[in-house]
Amino acid sequence: MRRGSKDKRIAVFLDRDGTINDELGYLEHADRLMVLPRVVEAIRLLNENNLLTVLVTNQSGVARGYFPESAVNEVHERLKNILKEEGAHLDGIYYCPHHPDVGLPEYRLDCDCRKPRTGMIEKAAKDLNIDASRSYMVGDKIIDVEFAHKAGAKGIMVMTGYGREELKHFSHEWKVHPDHIADDLYDAVKWILDQEGKG
Ligand SMILES: [Mg+2]
Repeated sequence: MRRGSKDKRIAVFLDRDGTINDELGYLEHADRLMVLPRVVEAIRLLNENNLLTVLVTNQSGVARGYFPESAVNEVHERLKNILKEEGAHLDGIYYCPHHPDVGLPEYRLDCDCRKPRTGMIEKAAKDLNIDASRSYMVGDKIIDVEFAHKAGAKGIMVMTGYGREELKHFSHEWKVHPDHIADDLYDAVKWILDQEGKG
């Protein structure tokens, strides 16, 4: 029997740097991970409301040779532990270590997973039985919104990380527009819950 889209889950995809944690340019060591205010509460709200919570992050610092892939995993382990201590969790973590034209040969790749390309959403959708067209993406860059729209999801932009700068200085150049602009991840989650009739 074919499973209809009704059986599929709604996910909230989350960008990492500037959305969950402080934007530091490149986060090369787990010790420098600083989770932003109200982020743990926001993720816990998603968990409590049965919305899958999936991290999707470009980590071209690997391709650029700034840090090894193991450092990315260490950051994610630390993040998982911080969330766990507060009763929150991520349902999936996906990252793209590639870059199309710089850096180490093994990572220099015109891949499908580097945002705004949609490889990470497609992989997560398969792994976790997600309906991308009913899902959401939250990020601090307009490419996060572009990424969301390419996958058929709604794109929400937060004013943490690069968000405020992007909105102030570059919004006249935007080719896509956020479905919603939120102060931070917590506000974004509140808006999503409202959309879902769970507000
Ligand atoms: Mg970001």
